[in-house]
Amino acid sequence: MIACLGRFVPENDVESRAENDDVSTICKSLGLKGSIDFGVGATNGSADKDFGGMYSYKPLAVIRPSGADDVAVVIKAAHLQSNLTVAARGNGHSINGQAMADRGLVIDMGSTGDSHFEIVKVKGSTYLDVSGGALWEDVLKRCVEDFGLAPRSWTDYLRLTVGGTLSNAGVSGQAFRYGPQISNVAHRQPELFFNVLGGLGQFGIITRARVLLQSAPDKVRWIRLVYAEFDEFTRDAELLVSLKEERESFDYVEGFVFVNSDDTVNGWPSVPLDPAQVFDPAHLPQTAGSVLYCLEVALHYNNSDPRSAVDAVVDRLLERLGFVSKLNFPVDVSYVDFLLRVKLVEEHARANGMWDSPHPWLNMFVSKSNLAEFNRAVFNEILKDGINGPMLVYPLLRSKWDDRTSVMVPEEEIFYLVALLRFPPPHEDGASIKKLVDQNRGIVQYCKDRGFDFKLFFPHYKSEEEWKCHFGDRWTRFRDSKKAFDPKHILAPGQKIFSRIS
Ligand code: FAD
Repeated sequence: MIACLGRFVPENDVESRAENDDVSTICKSLGLKGSIDFGVGATNGSADKDFGGMYSYKPLAVIRPSGADDVAVVIKAAHLQSNLTVAARGNGHSINGQAMADRGLVIDMGSTGDSHFEIVKVKGSTYLDVSGGALWEDVLKRCVEDFGLAPRSWTDYLRLTVGGTLSNAGVSGQAFRYGPQISNVAHRQPELFFNVLGGLGQFGIITRARVLLQSAPDKVRWIRLVYAEFDEFTRDAELLVSLKEERESFDYVEGFVFVNSDDTVNGWPSVPLDPAQVFDPAHLPQTAGSVLYCLEVALHYNNSDPRSAVDAVVDRLLERLGFVSKLNFPVDVSYVDFLLRVKLVEEHARANGMWDSPHPWLNMFVSKSNLAEFNRAVFNEILKDGINGPMLVYPLLRSKWDDRTSVMVPEEEIFYLVALLRFPPPHEDGASIKKLVDQNRGIVQYCKDRGFDFKLFFPHYKSEEEWKCHFGDRWTRFRDSKKAFDPKHILAPGQKIFSRIS
């Protein structure tokens, strides 16, 4: 096993060719049930690419494990080498090369996607035991279709893996009520377990997770509400996420900023949910500025609920809100279609080449008390013409996040997720993409200079100093856990937090 791993490092072309001829021997010597690609095979695949499209690190080999045993064999083998690193790759939807391993081993967790799928009951609660490599989209379809059940907390887009989102947090419009996805999984070995959640892949590879389920509704009333004033938008968003009784609020609360213009991507046309709906700017007050705000909410219901009862609940909830009257866009869709809503965006972006071009995204959490200033300086000035993609902004509650996990969020109880999901036109040159990256940096620097209480979500730093700053007084715990669970710094080298120790 050790000798074979040693042979992954090609010393010259002749040896490299010999290795290519010998894939099956290597597989057998490691005793893997899955497969290995190395040399040209490894570098021709997708393991050196991600959704961000701005970094490319070539691995020496790509392993497609058949399950947890294969993953353990690979990690143990790497441990016995002096320089090998191992990156689990979920679906490669990172932005900055986090799932890559430069001349290391990439474990493509997608091959384990079907290894586990079992509904279990524990102390009156129902859970799904599922492979870390499973896509949330498949989890949704199987849970709803076969059992009428569903996880409580989601991401907006579901072609992400269970292990990939649990390594970060997993946030969407249900997180105000149930917390992020990492607050909705069960544990056996608490110390390792909590470190791994939001742990950026540093402490272990998630081969299986136990996800809390609830019964799935049949339908969703999905509504977009337009605001001209930032203060009214945030007041209503915060009201909805703070109501204690479930039936007093919507089941999903998000929001976004858009441009006050007829620009098809960034402006009014980006708001309506149905082609028959029209955004009539005549309803906007004279005071409206260069950007507008949209609260996006959804209410679950079942086919057996009379329509009048659903309307009554929605009307009662909307009565309390101060959106611009008549700029209210409701649709009724199935629960599954609602959760798969970004799939349509994906299809569209793939068709026009914007899915495969670089995505210099910025995701952050900004505390409530700094958001008004952020809004003035960033949304109303720097980004007032839009970013060619959604600018999400919606509140979350810190009390729904477990401090024992590794993820970092601001100190205040209410903080906002801010996501700049840029889709630059295809074929932008490197210089244009760099400008957008620099603009992101400028925004982060502004937050630092103003002393904001904020954290990067999907953090990307290059120096230990910056990582120390990110983790603050929890850096020592993070570093000590690394020492305990991955003493040679083998795992997730693409995060660039620790360097391999020989
Ligand atoms: P990868 O990008 O492949 O991996 C991410 C990191 O986790 C890497 O460091 C990798 O080594 C590690 N990792 C992967 N699998 C495992 C595992 N099994 N065990 C341990 N470590 C592992 N996030 C949200 O929270 N909410 C959203 O609404 C949301 N929407 C998105 C929409 C799009 C279009 C995209 C591209 C991303 C979105 N994300 C969202 C971000 C997403 O959560 C991250 O990209 C996350 O990394 C999951 O992606 P992945 O499964 O492809 O993981």
